[in-house]
Amino acid sequence: MLHFTCDMCGQSLNGERYEVRVDVRPAFDPDELDEIDLDLDHLDEIAATIDQMESTGDFELTDCGVKSFRYDLCPHCRERYTQDPLGQDTLKRVSFSQN
Ligand SMILES: [Zn+2]
Repeated sequence: MLHFTCDMCGQSLNGERYEVRVDVRPAFDPDELDEIDLDLDHLDEIAATIDQMESTGDFELTDCGVKSFRYDLCPHCRERYTQDPLGQDTLKRVSFSQN
């Protein structure tokens, strides 16, 4: 039998378990953006990128790639996660405490 633990608090999950799936993907057309980027100011940068691609053989646009995440949560952490999925409250609290 598979054993799951909560990815937020580490608690063992027996029975009630929630799954979070997050996909971060481009909502624009990367090809279209490349044409806009073909500006004279960027030629050196583009040449460097092409050199790098040729040397590594990596033609993937890593910055535009789909990033997928999967987490298991206990009921308590599910509640916390759904109230603030992007951690915005946490970030605000951190910046306030610095003043
Ligand atoms: Zn938890």
